[in-house]
Amino acid sequence: MATYSTLGITLQARKYKGTGRVVTYLTPDRGKVEAVAQGIGRPASKLAPAVEIFTLSRLLLAEGRDLDRLTQAEVIEPHYALREDVTRLTYASYIAELTTKTSEPDEALPGLFERLAGALSALCDTTDPEPALWWYLLGLFETHGLAPDLEACCRCKASLEGRACYVPAEAGLVCSNCIPQPTGMSLSPEACAVVRGIKRMAPERLSRLSISAPARIELRRFFDAHTDHQFAVVTKSRRILQQLRGAGGAD
Ligand SMILES: [Zn+2]
Repeated sequence: MATYSTLGITLQARKYKGTGRVVTYLTPDRGKVEAVAQGIGRPASKLAPAVEIFTLSRLLLAEGRDLDRLTQAEVIEPHYALREDVTRLTYASYIAELTTKTSEPDEALPGLFERLAGALSALCDTTDPEPALWWYLLGLFETHGLAPDLEACCRCKASLEGRACYVPAEAGLVCSNCIPQPTGMSLSPEACAVVRGIKRMAPERLSRLSISAPARIELRRFFDAHTDHQFAVVTKSRRILQQLRGAGGAD
């Protein structure tokens, strides 16, 4: 049976035949990989740390007919901070679930692994997780060729200056000449500047961003609407995220 070595970030793990787990990893070259890890429920399992969600590990896998099998693992970065705080956990869970549901098995998505690693590290080091989520989403859209144009109006192609408006049906931003009245999906000049800034930013700098409450609400609507329109997937973790935001956990 052929074996291969790869880096992998755990996206999810579910129980399988007693002490086994089926683990979903995002890898740099093979995209999403599902593998069986056996004996995880037993004490002193050497594979167990690499099964923990959000952990970045070096993996040795054996190819199988249906599922690959995890044979060795060495943890590189456990991202502990994501599992110790409910806000970080919720944001990271949303990122992991969305990645799982928008990736096909064994389909490499160039740059997405590095983007995920960068976003999880940024989430570990910040008290404001939202810019890290948005930074990741911009990368996820880009990887799938679904990124909105942040610089030009999707109707008249004029440079977007001042207020813009997101039009879900067109999956794009429209300038204030094309839509003169603000709508429920308007983005203020501040919100436009923030999203352009996040796109260019190194992930370790995201925690320095300062965003007003109104711009934050506009950006949430924009990112949720574009994600729903482009991917059309239902994620349990976003409902939990919305409850958390509603409780003031992210403000
Ligand atoms: Zn226009």
